[in-house]
Amino acid sequence: MTKAVTTSRDPVCGMAIEVARSSRFITYRGMLYHFCSAHCLERFNDIPALYTGSQRIADILPIPKRRKLRLANGNESDIQRAGRRVGEMIGVISVITGKNQLLVEYDLRKTILSQIEAVATAESLRFKDGFHGFRRRLWKLAEANELENAAHPGPGACCNRPPVRLR
Ligand SMILES: [Zn+2]
Repeated sequence: MTKAVTTSRDPVCGMAIEVARSSRFITYRGMLYHFCSAHCLERFNDIPALYTGSQRIADILPIPKRRKLRLANGNESDIQRAGRRVGEMIGVISVITGKNQLLVEYDLRKTILSQIEAVATAESLRFKDGFHGFRRRLWKLAEANELENAAHPGPGACCNRPPVRLR
């Protein structure tokens, strides 16, 4: 008789997790989810709808984003180091560092602006506030909405198939 091993799929990266050995898990809307890493758990917590919605993330087309992030402090070596760290993030396509800015391209399905900002901030960069701070907050709100809509396409959602004609 074989001993059954219960596995659960990490909803973020798809990895099979052996439940008995799992140390990272959370309950969301009555369902228990297991994760391979703190990174996947964090991604899930940011936007659970993306991983539990009717639409799986794998079925969604890439959602490329390109943001020019303006910096309040301009230490050259800090900017270079932060640029490399951001460039290593899952979902980040490219990073171009400038005198007082980071130009970042990423796939919204895999990372979001607030995570990119967190990595840069951990490398002691500070972002410009004022109007730029306002824009960044708007971008983050828009990203959350866009991901919610991608996870739960409603009847009003844009569709590339012609409407089905009944009779
Ligand atoms: Zn994972």
